[in-house]
Amino acid sequence: MTQDPRDRPAAPEAPPADTLATLVRAEAVRRGLGTVAFTRLAAPRDADRLPAWLAAGYHGEMAYLARRPEERASAEQAHPWARTMICVLRDYHQDLPPAGPLEGRVSVYAVGRDYHDVLGEDLRELATWLQESFGARTRIAVDSSALLERQYAREAGLGWIGKHTLLLRRDRGSWFFLGEIVTDLDILPDDGDAHDHCGSCERCLDVCPTRAFPRPYVLDARRCISYLTIEHRGVIPPELRPLMGSWVFGCDLCQDVCPWNRYARSATGDGFRPRGSLPNVDLAELVGITDQEFRDRFRGSPIFRAKRNGLVRNAVIALGNSGSKEAVAPLRRALEDESWLVRLHAAWALGRLLDVAPAVRPVLEARCQNEDDDRVRAEIRQALCYPEASEEDVTDGGPRPRGPRQT
Ligand code: SF4
Ligand code: SF4
Repeated sequence: MTQDPRDRPAAPEAPPADTLATLVRAEAVRRGLGTVAFTRLAAPRDADRLPAWLAAGYHGEMAYLARRPEERASAEQAHPWARTMICVLRDYHQDLPPAGPLEGRVSVYAVGRDYHDVLGEDLRELATWLQESFGARTRIAVDSSALLERQYAREAGLGWIGKHTLLLRRDRGSWFFLGEIVTDLDILPDDGDAHDHCGSCERCLDVCPTRAFPRPYVLDARRCISYLTIEHRGVIPPELRPLMGSWVFGCDLCQDVCPWNRYARSATGDGFRPRGSLPNVDLAELVGITDQEFRDRFRGSPIFRAKRNGLVRNAVIALGNSGSKEAVAPLRRALEDESWLVRLHAAWALGRLLDVAPAVRPVLEARCQNEDDDRVRAEIRQALCYPEASEEDVTDGGPRPRGPRQT
């Protein structure tokens, strides 16, 4: 039997915009969301910088960033029915022990549950409350839709975008996640302080080991360790590998040095507490991980995004950067890995240890005889500094015309 529309309960009437702002803010804070602010959906003031950034290729393989550029630049275009964007932040900082000599480092944000899930749950609950209380139409986003999150948060007065390109606040630095609810409710927008307080400081630019900032406020993601260890699926450019140190997932250096982060607030709740053996991981153990073990261990963690071969590739590079003889045994295993991507980086890493472990040379030579992938053979010849390696064989980190690409 179909319901007569006249029998449906009427949607509750929404209060005036200023009252709504007070009610929604109080409810968000009551639900553990650190801070909340409101803005309209018109394109942020510097949205027109996006096309130039994309044209420079700074987004690397993140092709999704170049899709639907109009909708990305303006939430108004993407959600013509909406009136307000509710921007929230949730703190995730915690003090973690330093990595040991043969341990890999994981970015602070990735040691607990996947923030998409944790913050997504918070936002879904708040959105349900908005629907039930005011009949609101809503759409939530956590780093998951075509949205200039940081720019909108700045427009809402939640902070300024620092020279390291992250949103910053004077009262809590930058260690927080951002999330949004787009709604048709008319909520009074905020006009908080979004003034730039970086001043003459350039600590984040100076500390970056890979020189990923072509200039202040601009990130070339292709050089950023976070991008390389998480988003980049293929061969890591050889000149960047030694600069990656022991990072196996993400990098925190530019946030660590930011003076405003002395005011960072600790994560609340259990969601972001370190899982399993995290924050640091045993590199030798990681190199031996199977696909099934990877899935069992990292499902529900941000680390899942790197996929097994990507994470093992990162661990292999970290072992090569360790300068330790003890890295040789796990790297020899990695040289026999099923993935050509892992074998290629293992060849590079072993080559880096030739000075401390000369016995590596016959291992590489033997592998070169048995290796059937041209790309790995070329890398082994590079590692051994064989003069006969042709220019064509030199791994350049760019697209390879031969064989399958690692996915
Ligand atoms: S995350 Fe690391 S590599 Fe990326 S910009 Fe910051 S310091 Fe540089
Ligand atoms: S380190 Fe200095 S320049 Fe970089 S974001 Fe922080 S305050 Fe700004």
